[in-house]
Amino acid sequence: MKVCRTIAEYRAEIATFRAASESVGVVTTMGALHAGHMALVERAKSGNDRVVTTIFVNPTQFGQAADLEKYPRPEAQDLEMFRSAGVDAVLIPSVEEMYPRGDETIVETTRLAHVLHGLVRPGHFRGVATVVTKLFNIAQPDRAYFGEKDYQQLAVIRRMVRDLHMPLEIVGVPTVRESDGLAMSSRNIRLSPEHRKEAVVLNQCLDHAETLMGTASTVAGLKADVQEMVQGRTSGKLMAFDVVDPESFEPVEGPLNRPIAIMMSVEFGEGEDAVLLIDQREIVP
Ligand code: AMP
Repeated sequence: MKVCRTIAEYRAEIATFRAASESVGVVTTMGALHAGHMALVERAKSGNDRVVTTIFVNPTQFGQAADLEKYPRPEAQDLEMFRSAGVDAVLIPSVEEMYPRGDETIVETTRLAHVLHGLVRPGHFRGVATVVTKLFNIAQPDRAYFGEKDYQQLAVIRRMVRDLHMPLEIVGVPTVRESDGLAMSSRNIRLSPEHRKEAVVLNQCLDHAETLMGTASTVAGLKADVQEMVQGRTSGKLMAFDVVDPESFEPVEGPLNRPIAIMMSVEFGEGEDAVLLIDQREIVP
């Protein structure tokens, strides 16, 4: 596996694959890898001749400086995981190279970025769309792999690729979970032991939604139940529980009798130690 610290090195490596007419899949990450990331790599390996990855803790998608600073960066371990999974090349660029001095170009989905999780984290999806565009331009892959766990992110990227006619395929990969149902996340290791136990509540709320589907229950009833579950079982704060149409992302109300997507987020801890966890599920009656 070639470890590239500059865009030029990475491009040169990928150019050798292209010269041999090999297809290229990319997996973009912020590092602190876990089995969720590795599921994307495996999927990419099965669909392409070559798999390339990136590790970049993107400053423009973080709201709070503290969250950015505290983001784990176990680089040696990450490289070992990519290496043993058979990744061909990884880019670990500097912030200075990714965001050249005096840069003034951003990419933004105008509606999708400003609803739901975008309200809780202003500017987040602009940062994501911008960095993902840069990484696509750098790697020029045939396919790019993203987790369904970051459901709105996946939707933003799909829309962006369609709208801007980017010549690649976006592949969504199902969420990988811990044995108790908690969605794997690089943020999980920042949870205190208490909060780690409580964090299972996100998956429990999504399970609960599934059991109510097709019954006489309504979205309002489900939201009340979820508020009670989070408040009653944990010290976390329910930041969002959005029930939307999986296609349009418009809010759904009334009876639970049509396909829905739920996006939820719960914050554990206070101030600088706060950890925001997200989870999602698509449910079809
Ligand atoms: P991140 O390093 O958090 O930016 O995530 C990089 C990619 O891995 C994104 O496409 C995420 O959606 C995906 N990902 C993160 N956690 C999981 C998970 N538990 N299961 C599947 N994909 C995931």
